[in-house]
Amino acid sequence: MDKHYPLDLHVFEEKEEIVEGMLVCQECGRWYPIMDEIPQLLPDDLREQKPELVWLEKWRERVPENVLREGKPFTLR
Ligand SMILES: [Zn+2]
Repeated sequence: MDKHYPLDLHVFEEKEEIVEGMLVCQECGRWYPIMDEIPQLLPDDLREQKPELVWLEKWRERVPENVLREGKPFTLR
């Protein structure tokens, strides 16, 4: 996963646990989704762009501006 620490946490939906959210590395610009309570901390080459972009679009209003602008490994623009 990410070589940097700490990661910023953005919570989109929370019940007893964080259900949906995002971890963002300010150092390298990488973002990692939290989907169905599970943080997806995968290296770039194991990430699936298409479903992650669908997810990103779904939460677009909540995603930090810098992630939308220049997030890695991919983003909406
Ligand atoms: Zn990083």
